[in-house]
Amino acid sequence: MPTAGASGAPEQTQALKTSNFLRQIIEHDLAQGTYASRRWAGSPGDAAHHAAGQPDPARIRTRFPPEPNGYLHVGHAKSICLNFGLARDYAGVCHLRFDDTNPEKEDQEYVNSIIDAVKWLGFDWAQIGQVQGSAAPYQASDYFGFMYRAAEHLIEAGHAYVDEQSPEEMRIHRGDFGKPGANSPFRSRTPAENLARFREMKDGQHPDGAMVLRAKIDMAAPNINMRDPAIYRIRHAEHHHTGKAWCVYPMYTFAHPIEDALEQITHSICTLEFEDQRPFYDWLMERLIEGGLLASPPPRQYEFARLNLTYVVTSKRKLAQLVNEKRVSGWDDPRMPTIVGLRRRGYTPQSLQLFAERIGVTKSDSWIDYGTLEGCLREDLENKAHRGMAVLDPIKLVMTNWAAAFGHDDYTETCTQPTLPHSAIAEGQTPPPERSFKIGKEVWIEREDFEEIAPKGYKRLFPGNVVRLKGGYVVECTGCVRDAAGQVIEVHAKVIPGTKSGTPGADSVKAKAAITWVGVADGVQAEVRLYDRLFADAHPDAGGKDFLQALNPDSLKVVRAYVEPSLAAALPDQKFQFERFGYFVADRADHVAGSKPVFNRAVSLKDSWGK
Ligand code: ATP
Ligand code: MG
Repeated sequence: MPTAGASGAPEQTQALKTSNFLRQIIEHDLAQGTYASRRWAGSPGDAAHHAAGQPDPARIRTRFPPEPNGYLHVGHAKSICLNFGLARDYAGVCHLRFDDTNPEKEDQEYVNSIIDAVKWLGFDWAQIGQVQGSAAPYQASDYFGFMYRAAEHLIEAGHAYVDEQSPEEMRIHRGDFGKPGANSPFRSRTPAENLARFREMKDGQHPDGAMVLRAKIDMAAPNINMRDPAIYRIRHAEHHHTGKAWCVYPMYTFAHPIEDALEQITHSICTLEFEDQRPFYDWLMERLIEGGLLASPPPRQYEFARLNLTYVVTSKRKLAQLVNEKRVSGWDDPRMPTIVGLRRRGYTPQSLQLFAERIGVTKSDSWIDYGTLEGCLREDLENKAHRGMAVLDPIKLVMTNWAAAFGHDDYTETCTQPTLPHSAIAEGQTPPPERSFKIGKEVWIEREDFEEIAPKGYKRLFPGNVVRLKGGYVVECTGCVRDAAGQVIEVHAKVIPGTKSGTPGADSVKAKAAITWVGVADGVQAEVRLYDRLFADAHPDAGGKDFLQALNPDSLKVVRAYVEPSLAAALPDQKFQFERFGYFVADRADHVAGSKPVFNRAVSLKDSWGK
């Protein structure tokens, strides 16, 4: 059994790959040669990259189709890893496609952030199985011309009509579950009348909402999605890509299958809420193949259960509310489940890939414990993150016999420690150079590492006890100094010469414990942001609850810490294990190497939220 966290994560995820229903479907299609005969039709989807009539050498094609109307979150990461991962594993191609059919809500800022997120996660659509093709993502708006022609074709073939009922009338006539709908009075218009009206819509002769184009299917269908769904609507709006070229825009349910077909997608994978749309997807494909607009075989839609993660909300609206109401510092606040937030928190692409692989894909909704996500990060960083010491709640330890032991009070000595533990070094790999730091008369230690009267079982500093300063000397605690208010402000000890770690005398005195510390001589002050879960409730928005009430008041605590020089020199985004505390990352935005260290806690060493 390969153990996760062994070395590089890409091999890891390969090794952990388990079968699932999607893999079975793909393997079946490959064995049957379902898509082997495909030829490029010279359609707008690939006209730029593939000549008409050429076979498509990719064995399968999947796609990730975000709407550029917000930042991607951990749920999207699951979908990205799934779609790109399947293409990678079956020598196929995965398209990044912007589903930009909704001009009012979309923006170039989101387009750019989505491109960044997918690349950062480790998927380069220009490389994954791409035989020919460009690095430019696909975009639905490139197909508006084709979609319009497809709509005219449906009208001409008697499969669509322009409905001038008010939205309210349409709603009433739709019926509901268990009650069939009623035909619109406009349903029996001739194709010629419908075509004329639709062209008026396109030419801007009618205001928004005055009429819609509807597919003509069956107002009594048990599946409400088949009751003459709207397929085109009027929107006098400027589109971030096509500008003012159009004032009619296709509805998502109509546009999406066409996008898939034009790009020769084979397996169109979406979340379960689209299951009821599948009959319309298939209906539309059949009509357009019948009409000679598309070639067979059509793409097929498959649904999987979306990611639900405890302690997290993923609704775009709620995430936007957190940002707009300044409950968090922005979309990339390290507590946000957005990909930019996770990245700033210290998550790695490999940890998210591992997470996606581990949770798998199923056909029924379930909850994934937040601890699973954290566990994947620990696993990924365990063997990668350089070790270092930081003191998060500092108090000074003074070695009162320093001058007597070493000649003078300013004397310092260099200590060295491994940057990675022996267990993290793979066979044949050279360990990174050791880190070094200085010990002197005064060092910073954790306030909790001293007790004047030791509680039962306490092994750290108390008067008379002998403790090792990790990587340095053994000391014997002699007492403390208190201020007027009785607060301990300094701990006193005697250094025991000849006991330095790594020297022959290291074991000459038995220490009860080893504590972490940072030298006053070379320690650097740092801002450390101790992040925790954003919500204190595992299901912050379940059952109509106000999710803002579930915010964890302790999700961020900022402390003034001291870090050893190797940590202060970190590059932004570099991850470390602060010994005994957990994994930390030098903040991408605010950390300045050397002069202004800022670290975020990515995840503690152990899960303190256990069941
Ligand atoms: P919207 O409500 O705006 O549609 P969305 O989160 O579905 O929001 P899209 O941009 O449509 O956003 O999503 C792109 C893709 O990501 C879709 O294929 C969708 O199925 C998938 N996706 C979205 N949320 C999740 C989730 N929680 N788990 C898995 N996949 C998801
Ligand atoms: Mg969606």
